[in-house]
Amino acid sequence: MAADIAANIASVRARVAEAAVRAGRDPADVTIVAVSKTVGVDTIREAVAAGLTDLGENRAQEFRDKYGLLGPLAHWHFIGHLQTNKVKYLVEKVNLIHSVDGMAVAAEIDRLSKRAGLQQRVLVEVNVSGEASKSGVGAGEAMALVDSLRPLENIKVSGLMTVAPLTDDPETVRPYFRRLRALFADIAGRAWPEVEMRYLSMGMSGDFPVAVEEGANVIRVGTAIFGPRK
Ligand SMILES: *Cc1c(COP(=O)(O)O)cnc(C)c1O
Repeated sequence: MAADIAANIASVRARVAEAAVRAGRDPADVTIVAVSKTVGVDTIREAVAAGLTDLGENRAQEFRDKYGLLGPLAHWHFIGHLQTNKVKYLVEKVNLIHSVDGMAVAAEIDRLSKRAGLQQRVLVEVNVSGEASKSGVGAGEAMALVDSLRPLENIKVSGLMTVAPLTDDPETVRPYFRRLRALFADIAGRAWPEVEMRYLSMGMSGDFPVAVEEGANVIRVGTAIFGPRK
């Protein structure tokens, strides 16, 4: 198991490097978030021992339980749909919340972060494809949402995230990644002092090389590191 994971990490890193070079980018600018949902804590420990620095979970209670056992052994990312009443499991524990998609959840993150005396970095999740099954704010509403989050002093909007449609051919999702990157540039162009457009989180096991070619600097990879989920 340990050998498999180490080999998988090496393979993902090599593919990130190739994609970055194709795009004229520095591979070191791409952070690999290992998505450990459904993966047991012993395996997660092995993966961190093998060199992973960033872990992602998509369910708040699962994150809470794992954090209780593992603590801050890596940078933790929350990447799943987030309900307001689950925010309490995350604040003070996660480095980056990728999935803010509305004012209510943002206001709760702000409130609990203020109480904890910290500023929480968040990304706005954008449903670029418009698929009904996907969470995230529509591409046409993302700018307005970021604008409306500016007064919240205890969150820092730090970029954008998207989940592309599942596909066997990653070329079909390239236009969605392009669209998110263009939106990222548009928002950065507003030069709002409260907002930092720093992280562009896009790309999963099936499509991360294309995402890196299109400018992703955070990719979220589960299956390609840990193997298929049960
Ligand atoms: C599960 C998940 C991933 C990783 O998916 P893989 O295809 O296993 O790499 C990435 N992002 C989100 C939001 C996820 O829920």
